[in-house]
Amino acid sequence: MKEYRLPIIMLAVFEAVAITLWLTKDNLFYLFNFSYIGLSISLGIFLFIRKYKHARRIVQLLVGLYMLIYLGLICRENMQIEGFWYYLFTGVFEAATIHYAVAKIFGPLIFGRGWCGYACWTAMVLDFLPYKEPKEPRRNLGWIRYITFAASLIFVSALFLAKVGNIERIMFWAFVVGNIAYYGIGIALAFVFKDNRAFCKYICPITVFLKPMSYFSLIRIKCDKEKCISCGKCKRVCPMNVDVTDNSRKRENGTECILCMECVKNCPKKAL
Ligand code: SF4
Ligand code: SF4
Ligand code: SF4
Repeated sequence: MKEYRLPIIMLAVFEAVAITLWLTKDNLFYLFNFSYIGLSISLGIFLFIRKYKHARRIVQLLVGLYMLIYLGLICRENMQIEGFWYYLFTGVFEAATIHYAVAKIFGPLIFGRGWCGYACWTAMVLDFLPYKEPKEPRRNLGWIRYITFAASLIFVSALFLAKVGNIERIMFWAFVVGNIAYYGIGIALAFVFKDNRAFCKYICPITVFLKPMSYFSLIRIKCDKEKCISCGKCKRVCPMNVDVTDNSRKRENGTECILCMECVKNCPKKAL
């Protein structure tokens, strides 16, 4: 039972959030929404423990498609960063703001960038591309994320300052256009840099929240130095270029870890 501790903890965390929001907001949607996501993630971790090869991809598809198709396109909820600013400015603590608070701002204190490994609908598509292991060294382009972050904030602020009408509708179309742009840029960058996750490393504005919060993450991959033979395989297979052999929080690219477990699966000495 001890080996299933992590999926049980994850399920408990999500159920606690689901029940709390259901009762405090008096809205059954939150119970359904967070229970579904928690169950999907726990199922993925369970399958991983059972050594099922595609465990993470299953979770990505279960959560990513639910959020993109059901929440985004059917319920017309903008879950992109523009939607977060929009609901924040209107003072509405509803789906997008709650989603950000749980998955991208406070949640990473517990599960780091688990969102990026198991739930993001952008990465859900990028991870199908051929460069799962980066084929070129990481570039020093992370500053671009601050520009995209500022652009999203300026865009929504401008709508409010100009008192544009029917912002809800604009938000929906911003979601559609924004996603098409993310997929287009993400796929192009993956091929240019020979790295599926180039978009995540250089462009994604959400990492401005995710990186500092995940620095303190409770759940981390750790290295047993007694077993490690410094073969370097973990770093080679890591899609995010993390030096996971360094156990300190200051490890190279430590705030990039998406908990994908590729390093764990590939370590010949089971040191991770
Ligand atoms: S960095 Fe951005 S695009 Fe990449 S997985 Fe995380 S949230 Fe998604
Ligand atoms: S793959 Fe395992 S043994 Fe090799 S460097 Fe990484 S932790 Fe050490
Ligand atoms: S390979 Fe290991 S260190 Fe790299 S992102 Fe995945 S879990 Fe994190």
